[in-house]
Amino acid sequence: MKIGFIGLGRMGAAMARNLLRAHHEVAVYNRSRDKAEALAAEGAHVAASPADACRDTEAVFTMLADDHAVEQVVFGAEGIAAALAPDAIHVSCSTISTALARRLTAEHSSREQGYLSSPVFGRPEAAESKKLLVLPAGPAGMVDRCRPLFDVIGRQTFVVGPDPWQANAVKLCGNFMIASMLETFSEAFATLRKAEVAAQSFLEIMTALFGSPVYANYGALIANRNFDDAGFALRLGLKDVRLVLAVAEECAAPMPLASVIRDQFLAAMAHGQADLDWSSISQVSARAAALQP
Ligand code: NAP
Repeated sequence: MKIGFIGLGRMGAAMARNLLRAHHEVAVYNRSRDKAEALAAEGAHVAASPADACRDTEAVFTMLADDHAVEQVVFGAEGIAAALAPDAIHVSCSTISTALARRLTAEHSSREQGYLSSPVFGRPEAAESKKLLVLPAGPAGMVDRCRPLFDVIGRQTFVVGPDPWQANAVKLCGNFMIASMLETFSEAFATLRKAEVAAQSFLEIMTALFGSPVYANYGALIANRNFDDAGFALRLGLKDVRLVLAVAEECAAPMPLASVIRDQFLAAMAHGQADLDWSSISQVSARAAALQP
């Protein structure tokens, strides 16, 4: 298929590379052009603008930092909205608000273009090894057309529902579950450091108890206090906790724990942790316990 891919950060570059390896014809665009040029050697066409990446494509993916970035790329000068052909589909993989997903659905529909929200679970290593969980939502016919593309970026595709924004709600609730796990690990590790119990020993017991790679991998990051190589930056984690609180408000479903976690992320931001991995939220509990973070 001829496709466009916009946003070649930690996640997007790996996803675009897997689409190229599956012999799709891919035009790539990134705000900082060097990241797009890095993919030219692997067969990508480097587009000069988001509009250029849409030229003659059946689908264009976006994998961008946040709502603001998606708005700029879709509605800005030389944006996707004005350039995408009728019937072509915008596949939005970024973790964005449900409100923006509804706006994108309406905008593309008014131009007779397709729109799917298709957020993903998995860190950059999972994106590289095609192990993402892909969560499309939108009209069934559009999901079917894009399924071969989902199959080459992920290990499993879960169709969430007929309305695109539902996939964004699922992604945000899932990230809330991971953030809650990070906070519980953080508090337990701080307490056990004071109890002079080795972090590694607690981690082994919890991994045996919960049997989850998410617990094992994030637990290891916190136990080893290894936060500089940010697979997922803390500032993006804060964005997602804010966004899940917005979904909670829209649905009148209180999420008191999310409010507590938002404040823990704010404390981490105040200590200059925006670009560390989001598992560095554990330093907030460490500091509260008068431990060396
Ligand atoms: P990242 O490495 O920070 O990449 C962000 C991308 O957005 C870059 O291509 C950046 O371009 C672009 N961008 C930012 N602001 C922009 C703007 N105003 N206009 C145009 N482009 C802009 O982030 P990431 O970790 O790949 O995450 C991307 C999305 O995936 C986020 O929504 C994140 O929440 C979600 N996600 C991340 C993970 C993870 O573990 N990392 C997992 C699942 C989902 P430049 O290169 O020019 O800065």
